[in-house]
Amino acid sequence: MKIHEYQAKEFFRKYEIPVPEGRAATTAEEAEQLATTFTGPYVVKAQIHAGGRGKGGGIKVGNTPQEVKNLAGQILGMNLITHQTGPEGRIVGTVLVEKASDIEREIYLAVVIDRETSKIAIISSSEGGVEIETVAASTPEKIHKDWVDPTLGLMPYQVRSICFRLGLEGQAFKDGVKCVNNLYKLFIGEELTLAEINPLVVTKEGNVIALDAKLNLDGDAMFRHPEQPGLRDPNEEDPLEVEATKHGLNYIKLSGSVGCMVNGAGLAMATMDLIKLSGSEPANFLDVGGTASSEAVENAFRILMMDKSVKCVLINIFGGIVRCDRVATGVVEAIRNIGNVEVPIVARLEGTNAKEGIEILNNSGLEFHTISGFKEAAEKAVELAGGA
Ligand code: GDP
Ligand code: MG
Repeated sequence: MKIHEYQAKEFFRKYEIPVPEGRAATTAEEAEQLATTFTGPYVVKAQIHAGGRGKGGGIKVGNTPQEVKNLAGQILGMNLITHQTGPEGRIVGTVLVEKASDIEREIYLAVVIDRETSKIAIISSSEGGVEIETVAASTPEKIHKDWVDPTLGLMPYQVRSICFRLGLEGQAFKDGVKCVNNLYKLFIGEELTLAEINPLVVTKEGNVIALDAKLNLDGDAMFRHPEQPGLRDPNEEDPLEVEATKHGLNYIKLSGSVGCMVNGAGLAMATMDLIKLSGSEPANFLDVGGTASSEAVENAFRILMMDKSVKCVLINIFGGIVRCDRVATGVVEAIRNIGNVEVPIVARLEGTNAKEGIEILNNSGLEFHTISGFKEAAEKAVELAGGA
């Protein structure tokens, strides 16, 4: 789960990673009021779950609280488009008002899970800042990776060598060492999947400060961190995904036109593969759960119908734990309850009581394309959704 920069910086404070003085505001007046509590110059930063805000016009510098008010007024409510938001952009609802720093150097520092080696990796570059993607593409040798042995943890010699490579000296070196150590502690302590500081700056006065902060929390570990779920910002999430979460469905919105309703994550993955192989794209990943209860089926159908890009629904159920006749009854009831299901529906039921289930669908008076072959069902769904 992604969180905002201002929330990430609270974690930085807790783990003693230096950040500029500052707080979040949701109105221009509140931003002005905040600015009066410390001295300028100030930076006003749009809070959205995407990077590239600087280049997109979401970060502005002002000298007085009055200027902060004007800048916050410009940024709040704007549709901020960056290379990470996609062309539709994001509406800004919160700004972070900070004391501006006088930057000498910009460094990149991140802790990530490296899935290839199954280890935690520390990524660092002396060439941090808004051009980091260009650095990675054109001069990848300037980006370093250090892997942490899980049995040893992050070793002091590794931290020192990272800071030497970053070109830190004197007090900045000592502060850099603390910063790398504390970022790693934060990553472990809060069970993160990503902790990134870009840029970590050395100021003209020689201080090391995290100017930006990006943390991704691990949804599967969140039950161990009771304060973490409260950091969710539903405005930053797909509304259909928020709705699906409420009903305990595993739903992820995708960009295609074939809506999928499947029981079991493995079958759902295979269904998406076959839709792609048949020349189209799935509109979603959706696992209604192994038991495919009639309640889950109905909620799933409602969500699929809210997605206007769905041109055909492919139901693919394997009756293992659940009986296909039960599922079929649930599907028929769900469609009757919802009422206005206008898109064609392809249904493939396989496994326990599949024959009885198919009969229920065919005798329901509703229109189903019941097909027993997996490949044939996917091809039919693609055809009905408008073809490959
Ligand atoms: P991002 O564009 O979304 O990654 O947002 P960042 O917080 O990384 O800010 C982008 C850029 O704005 C930084 O790389 C800095 O160059 C600049 N910036 C941000 N805060 C300050 C500041 O306090 N002082 C100065 N001089 N520049 C800043
Ligand atoms: Mg940044």
